[in-house]
Formats: sequence, C-alpha cells, structure tokens
Amino acid sequence: MSVRVRFAPSPTGFLHIGGLRTALYNYLFARHHGGTFVLRIEDTDQSRYVEDAEADIIRSLEWAGMTIDEGPNAPGDVGPYRQSERKAMYHEYAKQLIESGNAYYAFDTTEEIDEMRERLKASGNPSPKYDSITRQSMKNSLTLPQDEVERRLEAGEEYVVRLKVPRRETVKFEDLIRGIVSFDTAGLDDQVLLKSDGMPTYHLANVVDDHTMNITHVIRGEEWLSSAPKHILLYQAFGWEAPTMAHLPLIMSPSGGKLSKRKAESEGIPVNTKDYISGNYEPEALINFLAYLGWSPGDDSEIHDMKELCELFTLDRVSKGGAVFNHKKLMWYNEHYIREASIEDLQPRVKALAEAAGYDTKDDAYLNTVLGLLHERVSKVDEFVEMGSFFFEAPKEYDEKALKKWKDDSPGMVKAYQEKVSALAEEEFKAANLKAALEAVVAEQEVGFGKVMMPVRIATTGQGFGPDLFPALELLGKDEVLARIETALERLA
Ligand code: GLU
Repeated sequence: MSVRVRFAPSPTGFLHIGGLRTALYNYLFARHHGGTFVLRIEDTDQSRYVEDAEADIIRSLEWAGMTIDEGPNAPGDVGPYRQSERKAMYHEYAKQLIESGNAYYAFDTTEEIDEMRERLKASGNPSPKYDSITRQSMKNSLTLPQDEVERRLEAGEEYVVRLKVPRRETVKFEDLIRGIVSFDTAGLDDQVLLKSDGMPTYHLANVVDDHTMNITHVIRGEEWLSSAPKHILLYQAFGWEAPTMAHLPLIMSPSGGKLSKRKAESEGIPVNTKDYISGNYEPEALINFLAYLGWSPGDDSEIHDMKELCELFTLDRVSKGGAVFNHKKLMWYNEHYIREASIEDLQPRVKALAEAAGYDTKDDAYLNTVLGLLHERVSKVDEFVEMGSFFFEAPKEYDEKALKKWKDDSPGMVKAYQEKVSALAEEEFKAANLKAALEAVVAEQEVGFGKVMMPVRIATTGQGFGPDLFPALELLGKDEVLARIETALERLA
C-alpha cells in the first residue's frame, strides 16, 4: 500500500510557522516513501473562515519548496479537497452511523443542555457531560418515539447528530511518536458530528476524509492528540481501519512554554510563514531549521537540503519532547545558505531589493563587485542593501553609533588622507595604493591604524563598520570618494 499523507489546515489565518513544520514533516515522510502529499482545506468552521488564507497556505508551501501532489490547486481522484465542497458526503456518512446505531439525532436547545449541566453540577458532578447516562433524559432519537423524531425532522426543527460514545471503554492506539496511547471514554462527551447549521464538525469531516482520501498516516501537531480517541471511536463505529497516527512535539518559546503568537512577537520571532517570505529569509534555511525542530538524523550533521532531508527523514527519529525555537540558529542556517548561493543567483534579488528601496544599482559589474565585497558579511539577503547602501548613494546621514568614534582629531586625519589620495592618478586609485596611503598617514601622525581608518570609513560610508574599506573605496572611484570626504569635513568638522 503506498503512503498517502495530508496536510489539513483550517483557513483561519496566515500559515503559522508550526503549521509549516507539520506540512514539512508530512512532505518529507511522503517523499521518503515515494508516497503522495495531499493538501486538504478544513473550512467547515464558517465563523473563523478567512478569505485569503487558502491562497496564503498554497503560496507558503510553494515558496518552501513543497510540491502539492493533490489539493484544491492540483485535483486528484479523491476530491474535492475543500471540506465545504464535501457537505453532502458528511450527511450521508452521518446517516449511516445513525442507521447502524452508532449515532443519533439530538434536538435539545442550548438552554436545555445548560439546564442539564447546572442540575448535575448542583448534585455534585464537577464536569457534567452529554454522555451515555445523561443522553437518556435528553431530547434525542434514542428517547423520543420514532414518529416524533420523524415529525421534528420533517418540520425542519434544528438538530445535531451526536456520536453514541460507549460507556467506560478504554480506547487504545499506537502512536508512532508517542507509543501506546490510551484514553478512557468516561471522559468524553457524545461528540457532535453534524452541527445545527448542517456543517460537520472537525471530527466527522476529518475521519470521513482521511478514510475516503485513502490516507495511510496522520501526522499532525500534539494539540490534536486529545482528538485522536474520538477519531478512533469513529473509525470503529464506521467499521473502518484507522490510519497510523503520529503526533508531533510542540514548538516551544526560548523563554519556556508553547510558542504562542504573543510570545513569538515579544521575542522577535516571526510567527507566520508570510513574514519569512517578506522578511527575505532563505526558504532552504527555514526548511533545514524546521526539519531539526523536533527531529534529527541521529548524527551530528546539520546542513541538509530538501532532497537530502527527504532521504533521511523517518518518524522514529522525531522526539517526544517540545522543541525550542532558537532564532539565532535559524540565522546561522540563513547565513550558511547565503554563503552557499552564488553571486549570480543573489544578484537579481539584491538588485530588486535595492531598487525597491529607491537606489540606483549602476551596472551589473558594479553590483557584482558590491555583492562580492559583502558576501561573507551578511546573514540575510536584504543586508546587502542595508550594509551596502553607501555603494549606491552618498551617505545622507552618519550613523549615530559610528559618530561616537569621530573624535576631535578626526577631521585632521581625514584631511591628511584626502591630500594623499587626491595625489593619486585615476588609474592608481586602487585598493593597494589606498591602503598604502592610509598607512603613510598612520606613520606620519604616529597614531594607531584605527585612528585614521575609522574616520575615513565614517566619512566615505557613513557607517562605523562594513566591508573591506580599500576595495570599497576603489569601487566608489576617486571623484566620489573625494566628494564624500569634502562633504564630511564640512558637516562633521
Ligand atoms: N484542521 C486541523 C488543523 O487546523 C487539522 C488537524 C489534523 O491534522 O487532523 O490543524
């Protein structure tokens, strides 16, 4: 039997980074086994539906390099792939459960259910449920005469369909990550399967779809573990074999606890995949990083691209414990993939970013030299523009921190350097000569190297740090360097 997995997000907002990891583990598992990766949109909760969410999910997966084999954008044989388009199917299956005695119609109003709860609470039951005991005194097709049930249904009265959860049974299943998991049904409500608006609940739709879409493995976040026994009960009620389950460890915040949206924001961690896209992260870096967020190949290797990850990934190496989201580590990966990328690959991206920031990037040869000078220094592609802005435009402002290093004697040092380099002919305006000129000033003034170098850097680049200064000055050219020095002396003297 060939492996079929699904990523089944609810389109309630932008794709969360935890959701992207779930998708990734499904994708890696599918590819490792030569199986199929299905995208299913679980849009049965109309109150939480967000219009653009599906497009955001698909865009995010594509950006990350995951090809969807079947989904709303790539229809296969078991569609439709949006639950809202499968409504009729859920009704049929709910009816099947009613006919086999595993589910029933319930007509109770919210008030009646509240009343039941209050009554039970008052008699000492701290967590009253609609269950095997209480259902006997409620208004449902198990207690009402058959003809009354039919009359109510025909009259179009509101109803829900509930699962007849067996009393005091232990539901057991083997989770590929967590081992044997067992739950007592005594803790379960008679789950609503069809809501009064005619929509299925998550539980019914999820089970019907996993079955009818021939899903072999359900790989999802730990927060769904408590739903698993309800699903197992449903599979039993239908007489279907349940898919194999694997519940992934939580993603934790560096300060402890689950990485919630609020926590992530306060710790400077982008929470939605779209923020990584607009934040110019390398998709390979994010993927490599996320793969290791709860999994490792069992040796000390850390760098693997998608293809290698597909080969290496197995569920038995996924950890049970929560995985801490370390943003520094992500930046380490990002820097790695930037270094790996060639100047040719980076160039069009930097060009687009620089132009979007309003800079004139001159010609390609110029831009390539800029990239070469900065390649070893940046950890994110937008830093080429940030750090390299002075290559495109004379500094408008001088960096405040850098100015702390602009001392009383700095103008004199810069002037001395200005004299030396203005004596160089155009064709002599080369890194080696520019360096020799600075060394000459250092010797004449009997000061440390930094005493001259730092003010020259500030004057010509506006910054206190940056790429190798002399090749940078060579690239800027004699006229430009001298003009910048002139301006700086006027403004900073
Ligand atoms: N729709 C659920 C979600 O938003 C799917 C959970 C599952 O994979 O069963 O994550």
